[in-house]
Amino acid sequence: SLTTTLKLNNGTEIPAVGLGVYKAEPGDEVYHAVRSALELGYRHIDTASLYANEEGVGQAIIDSGIPRDDIFVTTKVWNDEQGYEETKAAFKSSLERLQMDYVDLYLVHWPVPGTFTETYKALEEIYRDGKAKAIGVSNFEPHHVEELLKEAEITPVVNQVELHPQLQQQAVRDFCEKHDIKVEAWAPLGKARYFDHPVLQDLAVKHNKKPAQIIVRWQYQSGIITIPKSVHKERQQENVNIFDFELSKEDIEKIKGMDADKRLGAHPDEFD
Ligand code: NAD
Repeated sequence: SLTTTLKLNNGTEIPAVGLGVYKAEPGDEVYHAVRSALELGYRHIDTASLYANEEGVGQAIIDSGIPRDDIFVTTKVWNDEQGYEETKAAFKSSLERLQMDYVDLYLVHWPVPGTFTETYKALEEIYRDGKAKAIGVSNFEPHHVEELLKEAEITPVVNQVELHPQLQQQAVRDFCEKHDIKVEAWAPLGKARYFDHPVLQDLAVKHNKKPAQIIVRWQYQSGIITIPKSVHKERQQENVNIFDFELSKEDIEKIKGMDADKRLGAHPDEFD
């Protein structure tokens, strides 16, 4: 169910399926998206300083009446906020906008060259202060993690990367597994750009599900944390109605065959 969790390397638990809110408009749109998701049983919300909607996320959580510690909240430090002191200030601002005294997970959004190690040192301090229950990274290639681990004292709990059937990230997954870092999928639905792919269509017919549900189920069965985004209640419901069927080995092989090294976003070595 939506309260099914995965255990992170520091012992904390993360709901395996959550709601992403990138591009949910600040104000009403994000507020109603989070309220409706919480009503449906979602207990994990993924935001970021970049998304400029932390206020709405925080207000929706307060107004839901659900105890704060029943909900898992992730936010991230943006690229122009990185560096040791800068990150500490950025984190404080995020907490204020969220109206929270801690977050469940704080991530380095992208590996800004020359800066991400210092940024991560601030995250370690935030973690030791108890203001982030877990810390991690996003858009890190294995070489970025290797570089980070030379200096870091705390292993990141997750690496959030672009991951969907056409970008399956096997190298990142193998590397993270070796280091006990969970992989979290962003753009898990491939931004809904190829729901008409014949493999997804066939599996949808076979299981009497929608392509989006086939994808989320595949991530769930693969032990990958997933945060599909929708601001519409019906789609939010659809995206998580995945706990009543199972993909077979052969189904998973077919999805494996969709891998095409096809990125929808920037490469972690080339972003700006
Ligand atoms: P996604 O793959 O979740 O696709 C979202 C889009 O798919 C929606 O805007 C909607 O148009 C469509 N959609 C959703 N459910 C649908 C359904 N059931 N039927 C039809 N269409 C549907 O893409 P995303 O929003 O980019 O990624 C998910 C989350 O990952 C983001 O909201 C954000 O929280 C996170 N993210 C993180 C990074 C990063 O750098 N760490 C980058 C991008 C996104």
